[in-house]
Amino acid sequence: MTRKTVTVSGVRIGEGFVFIAGPCAVEDEELTLAIARDVRKAGARILRGGAFKPRTSPYSFQGLAEAGLKILKKAGAAAGLPVVTEVMDTRHAALVREYADMLQLGSRNMHNAPLLRELGRMDKPVLLKRGMSATLEEWLRAAEIVRAGGNEEIVLCERDVRTFESHARNTLDLSGAVRARERAPWPVLVDPSHATGRADLIAAMSLAAAAAGVDGLMIEVHPHPEKALSDKEQQITPAEFARIASDVRAVREEMAAKSLLAAA
Ligand code: PEP
Ligand code: MN
Repeated sequence: MTRKTVTVSGVRIGEGFVFIAGPCAVEDEELTLAIARDVRKAGARILRGGAFKPRTSPYSFQGLAEAGLKILKKAGAAAGLPVVTEVMDTRHAALVREYADMLQLGSRNMHNAPLLRELGRMDKPVLLKRGMSATLEEWLRAAEIVRAGGNEEIVLCERDVRTFESHARNTLDLSGAVRARERAPWPVLVDPSHATGRADLIAAMSLAAAAAGVDGLMIEVHPHPEKALSDKEQQITPAEFARIASDVRAVREEMAAKSLLAAA
């Protein structure tokens, strides 16, 4: 099987290792600009940030909607980074497409066939998260629904599966990420932030994912995680992100030097 490389406004995913980083949600302009600059300096190549947030509670911060998309685009442009953000609803797809370089389809919508079909008709790459209760098979089928619409620019993102275990928010299915990469031609990323929901597990899970041979990581970064409007327990600071990115690069270099990546 030939592996596919997906290009997001000049950034190639599937060749080498890519970091996507940024806040859980776009909160305000100043903060987003600062995060964009910091994660870029640390080696991120794509900026993330939610403008339409899929929150479990209707009383939680729901995102800034179009104002958030504007801020994200501006911050990305200022830092020289393309941006990825979530599309939650078919009615928002065209709007999000105007601002984003890559369209994220979130865990809660992985089974939403109309939305998968809508993104399949679009001319922007899709970041397809694994549903939190989806089997590997269902996740890959969801990707095929996008492809059936004509859009082959797909990147898979493993985040977790829900299990009986409760020490972390969810359980990172790293073997699922490896299998997805064997079974499908598309690049596979791991999101250790949503997978664990715990800031102190991000470093270990990032290193493990890199050693497992995935194509990159998506990590939530916020300068003051305790003040974040969403997912405060799992966001890490720019300095922590810089350290993790540097450690991951060291692992990758060591693996390359010992030809361990040939198998990945
Ligand atoms: C996100 O990445 O912003 C997000 C909400 O993730 P998930 O869909 O995996 O919960
Ligand atoms: Mn989040």
